[in-house]
Amino acid sequence: MKAVRLIEPGRPLEMQQIDVPRIGARDILVRVKAAGICHSDAHYRAGRSPAYPLPLTLGHEVAGIIEQVGSEVTSLKTGDRVSLHYLISCGICFYCNRGSEQFCISVAMLGKHGDGGYAEYCRVPSRNAFLLPGEIPFEHGAIMMCSSATSLHALHKARLKPGESLAVFGVGGLGISAVQLAYAFGAMKVYGVDIRENKLEMARRFGAVPINAAETDPVAEIKRLTGDRGVDVALELIGLPLTMEQAVKSLAIFGRAVIVGITDRTFEIAPYDDLLNKEAEVIGVSDHLAQELPSLIEWVQHGKLDLSEAITDTVPLDADAINKALDQLEQSTEEVRVVITP
Ligand SMILES: [Zn+2]
Ligand SMILES: [Zn+2]
Repeated sequence: MKAVRLIEPGRPLEMQQIDVPRIGARDILVRVKAAGICHSDAHYRAGRSPAYPLPLTLGHEVAGIIEQVGSEVTSLKTGDRVSLHYLISCGICFYCNRGSEQFCISVAMLGKHGDGGYAEYCRVPSRNAFLLPGEIPFEHGAIMMCSSATSLHALHKARLKPGESLAVFGVGGLGISAVQLAYAFGAMKVYGVDIRENKLEMARRFGAVPINAAETDPVAEIKRLTGDRGVDVALELIGLPLTMEQAVKSLAIFGRAVIVGITDRTFEIAPYDDLLNKEAEVIGVSDHLAQELPSLIEWVQHGKLDLSEAITDTVPLDADAINKALDQLEQSTEEVRVVITP
C-alpha cells in the first residue's frame, strides 16, 4: 500500500510502498477515508518532538471503514465506519486501571510511536475504534479526535456546570470547539478572546462574546462584562505566559483556569490575590480519554458541535501535497486545517 512517511527528521515526508499491516486477534484494519494534518505532525517532521521508530507513517487523526477484524473482535465488523482514538494504552497499568490512560506507562500514540493514517490502511486495537454515524463526514470524524476531543476533556477538567460563564483564550480550531461544547454543557455566557478579527468573528457566529485583546485588556473587559465578578472558567489554548496570567486573573471566586496551550516558559501568579482570596484553581490538561469520545461523537451527530467550517482544504494521499500543508502549518498564523482524503 501507499504510505507517506517520516524517514528522517528535518526532511520532507516521502511516499513509500509498504506492506498492508497484519492484524492481531484484537486488532482491526481500517481503510483510511480521512486523515487530519495536525500541527503536531509539523513538529514531528521538523524533529522538535521526537517520533519513532523511523521510518514512520504519520497521522493520528484518522477515520475510515473497517476492512478486516481480528478473530477475537466481537464489537465491530467489516464495513463499519469508525473514528480512531490515537492513544494506544496497555489497559492494565496503574494509570489505565484508574481510567487515566493518557498517563499509561507504555502509552503509544498512533502516528507518533507507530504507523498512523497517512496511508491507505491503518491498524489499531479494536478498543481504539469508535463507531461513526453516517451523518458525520469522515473528514470531521478524523479531526474531532484531536482538537475537539481535547477541548471536551478541558471542559470536563474545568468541571463546567450549567449556568456558569467561560472565557476561551484563543478561538482557533480548538477554541471554536470549546465555545460550542461549553454551550452544549449549559454555559450561560462564553467570552472568546483573540487578537485575530476573523477568528473573533467566527467565535461571534458560534455565540461567544468577542474580546479583541489587541485593542483592549481582556482581564479588565471580562471584569467589566461580568459586573466585576470574573468568569467561572477560563480556558487557555494559546500557550503563552501572558494569556495564562490573563486567564488566571479573569477568574471569579471559585474560578478554574484550565491550561491547554503548551509552553516551557513560566508564568506568574500572585498567590493571595489570584488564588487564595478566591479559592481559585489552576488545572493542567493532557490529551483526552477514550471514555469521552462517544459523547463527543453524539454532539457532532446532533449538531451541537458544528465542524462544517473547521476544514480549510483537502488533499490526496500524496507526499508533495502533504509536505506543502505541513509547510503552511509552519508558516501561517491563520487557521490551517487540511485533511487527507485518499
Ligand atoms: Zn492532532
Ligand atoms: Zn497502561
